[in-house]
Amino acid sequence: MTVWETSSVARVVPPARPRKLAKVPFVELADGRLQGVVSSGSDIGRVYVSSIAAGTYAFACSTNNNRPCGGARGSFCNHIRALVGEAVLQYGAERVARYLKAETPGQEPDASTLVSVMTATRPAQGDTSAAAPVFSRFLRHLAYLEREPVTVPLPEMQWFPPTRAVA
Ligand SMILES: [Zn+2]
Repeated sequence: MTVWETSSVARVVPPARPRKLAKVPFVELADGRLQGVVSSGSDIGRVYVSSIAAGTYAFACSTNNNRPCGGARGSFCNHIRALVGEAVLQYGAERVARYLKAETPGQEPDASTLVSVMTATRPAQGDTSAAAPVFSRFLRHLAYLEREPVTVPLPEMQWFPPTRAVA
C-alpha cells in the first residue's frame, strides 16, 4: 500500500442496513482484509476473530485467546460466513465484493454468492497474526460504550476513525 493509503483516514459510513450487534459485534474492511469479531454460538464468554484476505480469500479464524477455530479447517467456518453476512449489511454487498475483489459474474452480489465465489477458489488458510490487532481495536470500541454520555466533542473519536488503528 502507498503512504497515502496507510495514512489517510477512512470515511466512516453509516450501515447500509441495520445490523444485530450480538452475533458480530465488530466488522471492518481494513488492512486488505474483511475482518471482525464474531460471538461464539455456544459459549457466551468466547469470541472469534475471523478474517478473509482481499484477492486471495485466505481465511483465518481463532478465539480471542488465539486458539484455532475447529470449524475453519479447509474452508470457511460459520463465523467467517456470519462475518460476510454482517459485512454486507454494514457496507452493502457491492462494496464488500469490490474490497475483496470477489467477482460475481452475471449477478448482483449478496452474502451467499460472495461466499460461494470465494470458497469455489479453494482459498488457503491464512495465518492468525491479524487477530490480536483486530481484537484490540474491538476492545477500544467497547471502551467508548462505557464512557459517560457527554455533549462536548471527543477529540479522539473525531481524529481516529474506528476502522483504522493509528500507530
Ligand atoms: Zn471460526
